Amino acid sequence: MPDTRSLTLVVAAFNEEAALPALHARLVAVMAALDADCSVLYVDDGSRDRTWDVLLDLAAHDSRVGLLRLARNFGKELALTAGLDHVHADAALVLDADGQDPPELIPAFVAKWREGYDVVYGTRTRRDGETWFKRFTAAGFYRVMQWLSPTDIPRDTGDFRLMSRRVLDALRQLRERQRFMKGLFTWVGFRQVSLPYDRAPRLAGSSKFNYWRLWNLAIEGITSFSTVPLRLATYVGVFAAILAFGWGLWIIARTVLWGDPVQGWPSLMTVVLFLGGVQLVALGIIGEYLGRLYVESKQRPLYLLSDLRPAQAAPAPVVQGHPAH
Ligand code: UDP
Ligand code: MG
Repeated sequence: MPDTRSLTLVVAAFNEEAALPALHARLVAVMAALDADCSVLYVDDGSRDRTWDVLLDLAAHDSRVGLLRLARNFGKELALTAGLDHVHADAALVLDADGQDPPELIPAFVAKWREGYDVVYGTRTRRDGETWFKRFTAAGFYRVMQWLSPTDIPRDTGDFRLMSRRVLDALRQLRERQRFMKGLFTWVGFRQVSLPYDRAPRLAGSSKFNYWRLWNLAIEGITSFSTVPLRLATYVGVFAAILAFGWGLWIIARTVLWGDPVQGWPSLMTVVLFLGGVQLVALGIIGEYLGRLYVESKQRPLYLLSDLRPAQAAPAPVVQGHPAH
């Protein structure tokens, strides 16, 4: 049986000065009731407000608080990667800084973990405070992902999840730059279980994800976990070629049977423009993948830290392979 004593809560925060004190108070209450060695690791993702000062203040008053500060805003996926790289406990639990993932559920996650599950992921049953448009697009995204990718990413699952030591070690081996965390969490496998919960509205501040960022995240998810779009271009090409061949036969037959009066300029233009468009789309799809290959080939570090303050009361660090600094 692996150890299930110590637990680190990982919170990525970008401009969350208003929400953090309230969240921390709730975490403290939960940790007090929990039968485990708890610590909290806050990752400041290059905030431009007073988030870092607020975090320093929290750490000064609570020896279980560890802090990481990224050199700039790297985005939530990389902030989480940085946080998870620096967890030395038996498990890590990720939650949002804005209170949308209720800390009061942590004991339920821990209970499942102690039953022997390696990944316990929260599944949203309700999405309060979100527009129908966001719900609709989210549902569409999960459907497309399911269709395109062999990795079955669970629906309505955010980053609210607990991961055991061996899952953390597995995640550390995935150093790809284009990180779609939901996909990576699923990809590693092990014993996973879902925990349904009601997603609460934000405590304070505003969402950092507008539709453009969500759209980009969706493209990230698709290109990181599926090469079906590349194959789609082939199918469209084959389909167009078959159609063109059939039409060619018809034109030859017609010319032989009824002669060849000059006509067909509009249909010619339509075909040329349509195929031009299809070719550009196919090139664009190839470009998406090529661009990712290019970024990957540069082998840059995933993130850069500008400050690292481990929790004072945290369990002794286990010497690990190679978390990127
Ligand atoms: N976040 C981050 N870096 C970013 C954007 C967001 O660390 O560049 C954090 C943010 O502080 C919050 C979590 O990611 O803790 C979720 O962000 P948000 O609440 O804005 O997203 P939503 O819940 O609206 O999807
Ligand atoms: Mg939120």
